[in-house]
Amino acid sequence: MRIDILTIFPEMFDSPFGHSIIKRAKNKGIVKIFIHNIRDYSLTKNKNVDDYAFGGGAGMVMMIEPIALCIEKLKSERTYDDIIYMSPDGELLNQSIANHLSMYNNLIILCGHYKGIDERVREAYITREISIGDYVLSGGELAAAVLCDSIIRVIPGVLNDETSALSDSFQNDLLSPPVYTRPANYKGMKVPDILLSGNEKEIQKWKMSKAMERTALRRPDLLSDDD
Ligand code: SAH
Repeated sequence: MRIDILTIFPEMFDSPFGHSIIKRAKNKGIVKIFIHNIRDYSLTKNKNVDDYAFGGGAGMVMMIEPIALCIEKLKSERTYDDIIYMSPDGELLNQSIANHLSMYNNLIILCGHYKGIDERVREAYITREISIGDYVLSGGELAAAVLCDSIIRVIPGVLNDETSALSDSFQNDLLSPPVYTRPANYKGMKVPDILLSGNEKEIQKWKMSKAMERTALRRPDLLSDDD
C-alpha cells in the first residue's frame, strides 16, 4: 500500500511513523509513506500556503493552488482509491472504516491547518472526509497519523501474530477482554485461575464472557442491532 500525505508540517510525522508497528510495516515493504510539503508547490515569491479569509473573520485559510498542484501531480502518476481530507466535520473514524481503507493500493491524505482549507479543494479533489472525534485539533497531522496507524496495523502481514488485530476491541463489535501477564500473583493480586488452567476451550469461553460483560457495561450501543 502507498500513502501520500500532504502537509505544511512534514516533520510532525517523523516520530509517529518512525517507531513500532508502522516502522516495521515500512521496513517490511508492506506500506510506503510519502510526505509532501505543500509549501514546495507554492508559486508565490514567499512560498505562501495560506491567506486571509474572504468575507473576513479570524484565522487564515489554506490556499487552493499549492494543494491542487500537488494532488494533480500525484494523480498524473497513479490512480488513487481515495483522496481523504482530515476534517472535524467528516465521517467519524471507526474500525470498519480502517479495515476498509486497509485494502486500498493508493491513498492521499490531506492535512489542513488554521481555519481549514479553501472549500474549492474539497469540492474539486476530495473524495472522502474523515474526523477522528468531536473536538478540534490545530492541524490534520495528528489525525492523519491516527488514521494511518489504524489502517496499517490491520494490513495482513504487519502484525506478527495474524490473529492479534482480530481479537482487538471493535473488530467483532465487542470490547477486548482484560489481559494479564507474569507474575501470576503480584502482592496478593491474582490472575484469574482459568487463564492458568491450560484448558483452551474454557479460556475462550471466559474471554468471550468477559468481552460481553465489558461491552454491556461500557458500550451497550455496540450490542444493539441498530446498524
Ligand atoms: N475551522 C475548522 C477547524 C479547523 S482545524 C472547523 O471549525 O471545522 C484545522 C485543521 O485540523 C483542519 O483543517 C483539519 O485538517 C484538522 N482537524 C481538526 N480537528 C480534526 C478532527 N477532529 N479530525 C480530523 N482532522 C481534524
